[in-house]
Amino acid sequence: MVIEEIPKTSKGEVRVGFHTHIRGLGLDEKGRAKKVADGLVGQEEAREALGLVVEMVREGRMAGRGVLIVGPPGTGKTALAIALAKELGEDTPFVALGGSEIMGSPRKSEVLMQAMRRAIGIRIKEKRKVYEGVVKNLKFKMVRHPYNPYVKVPREAIITLETEDDEKELRADEEIAYQLLQLGIRRGDVIAIDADTGRVYKIGRAKSKEEESSGIKLIKETELPKGPVFKETEVVHTLTLHDLDTYYAAQQAPLSLLAGFGPESVSDEVRKQVDKLVSEWLKEGKGELVPGVLFIDDAHMLDLEVFSFLSRAMEKEFAPIIVLATNRGMAKIRGTDEVAPHGMPLDMLDRLLIVRTRPYTRDEIEEIVRIRAEEEGVKLSEDAVKKLGEIGEQRSLRYAIHLMQPARIVAHRKGREEVKAEDVEEVEKKFVDVKDSVRYVEELKDKFL
Ligand code: ATP
Repeated sequence: MVIEEIPKTSKGEVRVGFHTHIRGLGLDEKGRAKKVADGLVGQEEAREALGLVVEMVREGRMAGRGVLIVGPPGTGKTALAIALAKELGEDTPFVALGGSEIMGSPRKSEVLMQAMRRAIGIRIKEKRKVYEGVVKNLKFKMVRHPYNPYVKVPREAIITLETEDDEKELRADEEIAYQLLQLGIRRGDVIAIDADTGRVYKIGRAKSKEEESSGIKLIKETELPKGPVFKETEVVHTLTLHDLDTYYAAQQAPLSLLAGFGPESVSDEVRKQVDKLVSEWLKEGKGELVPGVLFIDDAHMLDLEVFSFLSRAMEKEFAPIIVLATNRGMAKIRGTDEVAPHGMPLDMLDRLLIVRTRPYTRDEIEEIVRIRAEEEGVKLSEDAVKKLGEIGEQRSLRYAIHLMQPARIVAHRKGREEVKAEDVEEVEKKFVDVKDSVRYVEELKDKFL
């Protein structure tokens, strides 16, 4: 059996870009949450609870169960689900879906089935010749997209790779540069680039002393992996069941693909074959199962059919960790007249470990703003952080974070690199938050009509 590289699909990764600073749950050896660690701030109770879920997953005791995260909007439910996935391993698949996305589809079970299979990985080891090392420097040459002026795409990347006794500058073509961007590779990441296929693998992060103690990423002293930059190595890569499904579906039905049905039309038959194949790989020790996280936001919108699908899915041999989230208390179960906690049937609730998130304090919001600013390469003065903290508390964290890039541009126009409070105030007048935008159109509704 030959395994070929299948490019990662991008579905479900859109929202993740917003959360690239999250690297894990930020717990100590005893499973206690550090105040700020792994890119996470606060929510200690929820993080510690999810740390226990990680243990249960590792011990194989999550079968038949799922997690429910309950809390007001914008309290980091998505962020925590991503942290859970990261904590389980760098290559753990994470798939996010919204309740409305599922309910709005005429093929609910297909949407769910595909999401489930995107959320289950198979780790495969192969001998490969690779460039491997710690990214010491990474520069992109970006050009405007040929058709879409709003998008910039990489033309090439210059990477300085470092190991203990060697350092090499590599010039990578646009395909590799694109992968580096997609994977969010940055300084301090340990990567491998396949010398033959050009495929990029993120292996982990070189930890600095400071990072270990505070969780804030400041890479000074890095612990470097051994070996020359160019070497034969055993590369581990993780494919999802969905990757395999589409690969085999394409092989079996090239005509239907040409006709535009696309990889959406994976048949049950193909899925059965893939399951059989994967079972064999697992038995022969050729691969390892990597259960990922399937995150479903606004889970109160789901109906009985979906809940029973999810219940069954939790019992399967290949099952992801299902994490539901909601901000509703008592609600009608969709499609019935029955009112139930979080709009969920009792037999579903019985399976769920429930975790709470609470609103952030001003200090926590400021801390998140600082982390996000560093991640997005925005220099904030202390008064700008304070201003954004205030906005985050009064409006929403999301709105505060969205204001950072416009404020950077305003500062830049004034010839400054550092964003000041006045820049934030200026863009706050130009952009409104969701509450205000809704109020605005509601007030003007009569006029519009
Ligand atoms: P929810 O799913 O509860 O609506 P969310 O996870 O989408 O919330 P937002 O409030 O939209 O969170 O998050 C805004 C930004 O703040 C995102 O970049 C998110 O990753 C980040 N963020 C949220 N909570 C935390 C946290 N506890 N620590 C660090 N970053 C956080």
